Amino acid sequence: MTFAFEPFNHLCDGLVQRENVLPGLDEGFAGSPVADRLKRQLQKVLRFHGRCLHFGLRIGDHLQKSRDGDLAIRFNRFGELLEVKKEDHVSDVEEVVGLGHGWIYRFRANGFKCQVRHSRSLKPETRARKTFSTMKALTLTAYNEFRYEDAPDPEMGPDDVIIGVKACGICGSDIHGMDGSSGRRIPPIIMGHEAAGEIVKTGDNVKDWKVGDRVAFDSMIFCGKCEACQSGHTNLCPERRVIGVSCEDYRRHGAFAELVQIPQHILVPMPEGLSFEEAAFGEPVGVALHAVGLVSPEKGDVAVVVGAGLIGLLVVQALKRAGCERVLAVDLDEKRLELAKELGADAAVNSGAEDVLDQIRAWTGGDGADIAMEVVGISPTINLAVRSVRKGGKVGAVGNLKATVDFPLQDVVTREITVYGSCASAGEYEEALQAVSSGEISVKPLISASAPIREGGDWFQKLYNKEGDLLKVILHP
Ligand SMILES: [Zn+2]
Ligand SMILES: [Zn+2]
Repeated sequence: MTFAFEPFNHLCDGLVQRENVLPGLDEGFAGSPVADRLKRQLQKVLRFHGRCLHFGLRIGDHLQKSRDGDLAIRFNRFGELLEVKKEDHVSDVEEVVGLGHGWIYRFRANGFKCQVRHSRSLKPETRARKTFSTMKALTLTAYNEFRYEDAPDPEMGPDDVIIGVKACGICGSDIHGMDGSSGRRIPPIIMGHEAAGEIVKTGDNVKDWKVGDRVAFDSMIFCGKCEACQSGHTNLCPERRVIGVSCEDYRRHGAFAELVQIPQHILVPMPEGLSFEEAAFGEPVGVALHAVGLVSPEKGDVAVVVGAGLIGLLVVQALKRAGCERVLAVDLDEKRLELAKELGADAAVNSGAEDVLDQIRAWTGGDGADIAMEVVGISPTINLAVRSVRKGGKVGAVGNLKATVDFPLQDVVTREITVYGSCASAGEYEEALQAVSSGEISVKPLISASAPIREGGDWFQKLYNKEGDLLKVILHP
């Protein structure tokens, strides 16, 4: 795939859309001397600069303006528009908007509405042809809109590998991203950060990995140099970038695609015998291990897990693995409570019951649990978690559905409860895959569906509509 101004007259159409400037020109404009001149300029630039366009919009004579305007249009290595920069004498370049299919960008320059799009139809003389090939990907082209289509192959730096993706899970954060509510999946973006696959290409500096290696990878890229990284808190790295996320600061395509580019320092080897689907659980299992690690249970502890969704069910198992003697699962959903018990919870309480707190206290012997893990993130559940623990107990805060909640301050203060915030994971990936591989943590019962990536859009919709109580949906390129 490459970009081309095609059809070229889109740009010209845009130029004449400004009210009160030569209305009606759009019909005849494409073949006009101005358009031809622009086209020649563009082709020349494309040939010589490959992916960086810098051209002048000569809007002099024909549009009754006396001066020329220059725009610098810069693309990144994926062929996506990075910026449209105005030169001194061009005003009014506004925010650029991706419009989805074909990756169309509209902007204003000098008061004119302009439209640029890059498409797959390649001009034979452009150099870009040699540098781009395509893969299939599931791209979020606009909020709540997916397309399964060609996307440029990811490019690789010397410290990167290209992974042929075999399995990639849909994360809750992807669902909150696709409708624009989190602001972390600004289209166009290929999402997907819970993945595993096989290395198909390695960069020049990559020595420890080779083509054919079965790998998973951390969902975020950390710098490795800052104070946080140096002290092992890679999840707190100020430079961290999450795979499959696009926000104000960056865009990093993810693994709902045939190929994904990953820097070597976040690769994790897959233990022998582990399936790609299981390995795609590296992230959620890592999240559970990290949270439980922060709370650090002691042998014989009694724990309550508030919320038996996907992460909650992994937390139940991680607590048992860490030595908790008894674990109680709390949720509104009976089916999930059943599953929690199958996965190791010793008891389950429905949080819809009026006397839920009494039931929890009775079960913990009256004083409350040593540990409560909160895996939802709303006011009632954080309150329940805090009230479930004994004096001096510990609460692990993992869920954050709501940005702010009512917090039982007095309970925390007067009973000296410690609350641990836990974010993502920090180096627990390898341990996570080992725990799955050894059977200490079981993930197969959490797979609700396994589907080809081309059906990804439908599955996203089902998850979004909360159809059929789905836990993890895994897509295969
Ligand atoms: Zn995730
Ligand atoms: Zn760092």
